[in-house]
Amino acid sequence: MENPFYQGDHLTGGYNNRCLVYDREGETCKRCGSAIMKGIISSRKTFFCPNCQK
Ligand SMILES: [Zn+2]
Repeated sequence: MENPFYQGDHLTGGYNNRCLVYDREGETCKRCGSAIMKGIISSRKTFFCPNCQK
């Protein structure tokens, strides 16, 4: 895990939240129930909840 995006995310405390939504595109966030979004950053798939993550 040398991706700066992940390192920064870990520092902000968002890493655990990312684990909760990983590979769950189209499903709902376990925390707030919002639809989970998928994005491509540095050729890596990432999943996030737009409501929990800014
Ligand atoms: Zn959420």
